[in-house]
Amino acid sequence: MTVRTRIAPSPTGDPHVGTAYIALFNQCFAQAQGGQFVLRIEDTDQARSTPESEQAILDSLRWLGLDWQEGPDVGGPHGPYRQSERGGIYKKHCDELVAKGHAFHCYRTAEELDQLREQLKESGKATLKPSDLALPAEEVEKRKAAGEPYVVRMNVPESGTCVVEDLLRGAIEIDWAQVDAQILLKSDGMPTYHLANVVDDHLMEITHVLRGEEWINSAPKHKLLYEYFGWEMPVLCHLPLLRNPDKTKLSKRKNPTSILYYQRAGFMPEALLNYLGRMGWSMPDESEKFTLDEMLKHFDIQRVSLGGPVFDVEKLSWLNGLWIRELQDEQLADRLQQWLLNRENLLKVLPQAKGRMETFGDFMPLVSFLAAGQLPLTEDSFAGNRLELDEQKKLLQFTLWRLEALRSWSKDNIFATVKELSTQMDIKLKDFNAPLFVAISGTTASFSVMDAMGLLGPDLSRARLRQAIDVLGGAGKKVLKRWEKEFASLG
Ligand code: GLU
Repeated sequence: MTVRTRIAPSPTGDPHVGTAYIALFNQCFAQAQGGQFVLRIEDTDQARSTPESEQAILDSLRWLGLDWQEGPDVGGPHGPYRQSERGGIYKKHCDELVAKGHAFHCYRTAEELDQLREQLKESGKATLKPSDLALPAEEVEKRKAAGEPYVVRMNVPESGTCVVEDLLRGAIEIDWAQVDAQILLKSDGMPTYHLANVVDDHLMEITHVLRGEEWINSAPKHKLLYEYFGWEMPVLCHLPLLRNPDKTKLSKRKNPTSILYYQRAGFMPEALLNYLGRMGWSMPDESEKFTLDEMLKHFDIQRVSLGGPVFDVEKLSWLNGLWIRELQDEQLADRLQQWLLNRENLLKVLPQAKGRMETFGDFMPLVSFLAAGQLPLTEDSFAGNRLELDEQKKLLQFTLWRLEALRSWSKDNIFATVKELSTQMDIKLKDFNAPLFVAISGTTASFSVMDAMGLLGPDLSRARLRQAIDVLGGAGKKVLKRWEKEFASLG
């Protein structure tokens, strides 16, 4: 049997280090056994998926040095590798489940579902079962005749226990009482993750599914779907989730999570990949620095330990230092040029710097903030601004939220966003800009903060706003709640 694994990212945001971590283990698992590694794009959430996000995911996984044998960019015999192009396949398989009585059309309205959930809460049950959702046959006919929208749901047992085998965890028991009559096909005809994932894993001949542990609770549904279809289920292996140093689930509020951040902040792809390889895994000789080839050579999935691996930027930086010191000077010179110190980038920055230069010597100090990863900020850095520190902190958070939602990163769009927000918050643009200036450039004596953000790019800009909020003491849960409300009411 040829081992085949896959990574199935959803293109709904920045390329996440967690995606690269899962990809790395899938690639190693397959290739260590002479198998194949497939990349599939799970873009069934049409409202949130974007081609830009897909491209960024592919680019950043490639930047890290990962490599797949089949995928949307390289083709292969099991395509298309983008779920949005496989609609007919899911529909056909879903019809088959309905015909066999394993799934049913559900005409329940949103209001009815809300009501049912209320009743459920009162009765102390956790999930909606087919019996809860059933409508009298004539009512179904009526709604069908009226052309009302429906979803397709799967039948699930009311009670009992489902046992799922996991390569690392052994037998996992999950009560069927916890599993609801999952929607398989939405009213817009698009499949949900569960249906599409099972159908694709089967048709793409995936033998081993290595994915994050957040999917364990979905495993019973998947197992049942394989049974309904009469297909053999791939071996499941749930990898431990990456964590912040405080052991909570890795989140961008506490750590940069976008691969693009690490790229822009000057990390070496080899070092980041090396670090991801150490997430829950170690070399037989416990060596800390190793290449992808070395990892492949020694890969054994049983060496994965399930305690939550901590993604610690300080450790990563330390490891990155080891990698840098092992480069020949010639190589390092090339790397620095590739990274930021190239003619193209110089030409982008010069228009901003030129007007403020008297000698060439002024250039480096003027632009050094563009090359730094994080700035040496303290509360004092913000003390000279007119607004109270708390007010500055809030404005930085609000700006961050707005900029996180900004689709296309350009100076003009950033400016429009900031201007609108300052008007809505009734703060003069000059006062509003001052804390942004400090957060982004480390000083107010630099060129326009909008230009600076344009040049820094979204990942580093957002990371700096987050860093500034932290430097100002951060925001506790309570404060965040209050701010969220206020932010939402701004319109
Ligand atoms: N699209 C899912 C995700 O983004 C894939 C989960 C899986 O590997 O089954 O996490």
